[in-house]
Amino acid sequence: MSFAELGLAHTLLAAISDQGYTEPTEIQAKAIPVILSGCDVTACAQTGTGKTAGFALPILQRLIPGANTSASPAKHPVRALILTPTRELAAQVYESFILYGKNLPLRCTVVYGGVNIGPQQQILKDGVEILVATPGRLLDLVEQKNIHLGQVETLVLDEADRMLDMGFLPDIRKILSLLPSSRQSLLFSATFNDEITKLSNTLLNHPQRIEIAPRSATADLIEQSAWLVSSENKQNLLIALISKLNLQQVLIFAKTRQGANRLEGRLNRAQLPTQIIHGDKTQQARMEALELFKKGQSRILVATDIAARGLDIQELPCVINYELPSSAEDYVHRIGRTGRAGASGLAISLVAPEEAKLLDEIEKLIKRKIDKHNPDEILNATMFETEKNLPRTVKRSEPKQDIKNPYLGKNYPAYMACSDFQTDLEIPWLLQAQHSKVPEMKRTISTSVSTFRTPTKANNEIAALLRKPVKPYQTEQSNSSELIPG
Ligand code: AMP
Repeated sequence: MSFAELGLAHTLLAAISDQGYTEPTEIQAKAIPVILSGCDVTACAQTGTGKTAGFALPILQRLIPGANTSASPAKHPVRALILTPTRELAAQVYESFILYGKNLPLRCTVVYGGVNIGPQQQILKDGVEILVATPGRLLDLVEQKNIHLGQVETLVLDEADRMLDMGFLPDIRKILSLLPSSRQSLLFSATFNDEITKLSNTLLNHPQRIEIAPRSATADLIEQSAWLVSSENKQNLLIALISKLNLQQVLIFAKTRQGANRLEGRLNRAQLPTQIIHGDKTQQARMEALELFKKGQSRILVATDIAARGLDIQELPCVINYELPSSAEDYVHRIGRTGRAGASGLAISLVAPEEAKLLDEIEKLIKRKIDKHNPDEILNATMFETEKNLPRTVKRSEPKQDIKNPYLGKNYPAYMACSDFQTDLEIPWLLQAQHSKVPEMKRTISTSVSTFRTPTKANNEIAALLRKPVKPYQTEQSNSSELIPG
């Protein structure tokens, strides 16, 4: 099947060909003819399968008859409205419309919060046919009478299940009340739960259902694994995994903004330059962090679920769930940032005992078991490898008491099990670095040493276990490398 066979205009075909697309994806092949026919649609497709072009192309085509080059704002009413849950996704969908519609005299813009409203008001004043928006800012603009939605012909709810959940529903209902009742409505998402399906049926007019994969399926090409690890050991494991698996670009999801901040600090201190994106950051900072990451100019992006939906990051090889999301659907969205457009991907989850139930729910939803791994393997490997190079004083300093790993029921020496990167992984590394011939390693040591010198909870825990104070690590100049008194 070719794009031409779908009945798309030559102006659109030229733009598609400029993108290097040779044939429609499955969702495009199924959705484009139905949307062109004017029906309402609920489309459930795995993330990364080309959903955006699946609705953007037929919308553009349906707008061609009224397209014009007139300067009059009245000739450019909003005819297509696309709502997304996040600003970043809005910006991305807008970019797709610009790319696919580049040969058409149709105006398109995007509005979202967190940035100055003035320029958005100005663009709207001149008129646009296609408006991509987040709900809050759209309603602000409606209230300030900057926009009129009475001529909307097509409405899209992208990431529809999120748009119709309790958080967004009141805004969506307000927006729906401003639209003409005879319109085309399109709901797109990778996941639809039963409640949302029921609700969507009340909002749509005899929708055609398009489903190209089982509901809530995850891309087959994503290799999923779970590491069963205590919460306290997560940072250690994360850092060990990034270096062991030599992850060159990784998106890490944390559950809360504060948690994301802590993780960012920790990774940066571990010499892993990290960008961050969450709701407390300014829109400019969010966009910049995302842009750097998308261009491959930053290796690690820590994010809350703000980045879980729809974001298209070319060839992203790996997503890590530092914490599992509270809803299983969000897991599907998060890991869908990798394995996009037929590429393979890696999805790693760090699962603490208290998250075991969430993991069960995820496995039920995706209808497959996720491979479980034992973190001790990797944590110990890091220890043993580095131990070979440790100065003798450290090798001597065996801890006196073991503590139990709750997963394996096995005992481990206190210095491994006491979970703070600063004490069980960073120290061997520091010692290695201290003896390194590489000047860069030597330079970084001073920062890390100062971090370690601050008393940490783990130090105190070790001290309690050993019933001896933990001696702070000394720098090379003081010529002592004893860490834990033997
Ligand atoms: P989406 O699911 O809309 O976020 O799209 C995922 C990725 O697939 C984007 O990078 C698109 O540029 C790409 N894409 C969309 N349609 C096609 C196509 N027909 N052929 C190749 N790549 C495509």
